[in-house]
Amino acid sequence: MASGERMDNHREVVERLRSAFRSGVTIPEQFRRAQLTKLKSLLKDNEEQIVKALHEDLAKPKFEAIIAEVDLLDAAGVCRQNLATKLDDCFVRREPLGVVLIIGPWNYPLQLLLTPLVAAISAGNCVIIKPSEVSAATDKLVAELIPKYLSQDCYAVVRGGAEETMGLLQNRFDHIFYTGSQNVARSILQAASIHLTPVTLELGGKCPCFIYGRVNITSAARRLVWAKFFNAGQSCVAPDYVLCTKAMRDALLPAIRETLEDFYSKEPQKNADLPRIVSLRHWNRLMELLGKTSGKVVVGGESDREDKYIAPTVVVDVAEDDALMAEEIFGPILPILTIESLEEGIDIINRKEKPLALYVFSDESSLVTRVMEKTSSGGFCSNDGIIHMTLPGLPFGGVGASGWGSYHGRWGFETFSHQRACMLRGWALERLNGLRYPPYTDDKLSWLRWTASPKSCSIM
Ligand code: NAD
Repeated sequence: MASGERMDNHREVVERLRSAFRSGVTIPEQFRRAQLTKLKSLLKDNEEQIVKALHEDLAKPKFEAIIAEVDLLDAAGVCRQNLATKLDDCFVRREPLGVVLIIGPWNYPLQLLLTPLVAAISAGNCVIIKPSEVSAATDKLVAELIPKYLSQDCYAVVRGGAEETMGLLQNRFDHIFYTGSQNVARSILQAASIHLTPVTLELGGKCPCFIYGRVNITSAARRLVWAKFFNAGQSCVAPDYVLCTKAMRDALLPAIRETLEDFYSKEPQKNADLPRIVSLRHWNRLMELLGKTSGKVVVGGESDREDKYIAPTVVVDVAEDDALMAEEIFGPILPILTIESLEEGIDIINRKEKPLALYVFSDESSLVTRVMEKTSSGGFCSNDGIIHMTLPGLPFGGVGASGWGSYHGRWGFETFSHQRACMLRGWALERLNGLRYPPYTDDKLSWLRWTASPKSCSIM
């Protein structure tokens, strides 16, 4: 088969599976149980052929084929302890990984360095932290304070931008914990691949906010405005765009205007509660997006380059292929996309990369559940924004392009630990253990299979 043809076939297979996944067929427990039962039958019905194939490939004896391939698969699925391991001490030991590197962004330049640092320290690691050079003052302060307070033997701050970070990454680490943009994440992964270093990626994306069905408009506007314009929209979990009907949009706009005035006064530029854009580079990027949009600015739009200021801005009549929908906005600009149905909104979300957070504002709990079940995102929150990530009882992290792995609370501890599977065994039951030694016989095999059966466990 030509390689182009093969690629077409591959694409077809992937597409087929993706559409099955989207249909939701794999979700019901009954389906999953049935498939696993079928897999079990596959092993049982075809044992002879499996043994034959393994012999053809490796001259694997039937005995080894059964205990190490066929029955082990079964045991892994059912997770049982067999008779021959009953006297062993089996446990998971959480061990520190070693020397780990934490790379932080500029938007919450302290919290996003220190929260992972707490997890890394509590798991027992030595840590290098690399603050963002863009938030220069925090970078400098962190570099001054950490050595004053923490053991200088165990914890260090390395400063610098892209070049220094790439230099730093040439060293071997036991884990890299990176928070930042998707583009830079690719360079981090490339560097990590040299030493096969495991990586946690805390990235961003476009977090949708559905506002649908019966809704308390005033509360919705207040919570939306708070979540969007907190830190001037420079939050990885800020609502990036709103999905709602035309009627909802028309009801929301006056409430958003009123809320903005309440929060930031009639002259937001003079209001100390509204932060600025971090750098001129980012200010230019945001202004370029505003320049390119085919949507209509209906709230805000004012800006001041010298002051790195952009007013809280709302844009309507935004199409799915608009410039504002092409990348994460990460600033105080809120596009509103109008949809005719909930399904249309769900389809828009599912056509994009999986977001870090997904919000649904609605009084109708069945509607909230429907969006939750039909989409995927790092986190999910109804009737508010950002708040879900402040709870230590919930893991915080992305899925797919919005990140790999998670932290906060015990999830942070797990991220920076190795779960070492340990088995402490003595010398007892040697006759029983002897069943697995050569010379192999059918008798030994049936005894061994019996000892691994759930029935045998029940007699101990
Ligand atoms: P960034 O990727 O530009 O920078 C992050 C870090 O990487 C900085 O320390 C920087 O010095 C370093 N860096 C930059 N370029 C590099 C390169 N070429 N090679 C190696 N290192 C490099 O990200 P940012 O602009 O600081 O942060 C914004 C992004 O971070 C947004 O996408 C946002 O969504 C995301 N973010 C995610 C989370 C989260 O928890 N998931 C939190 C905050 C921000």
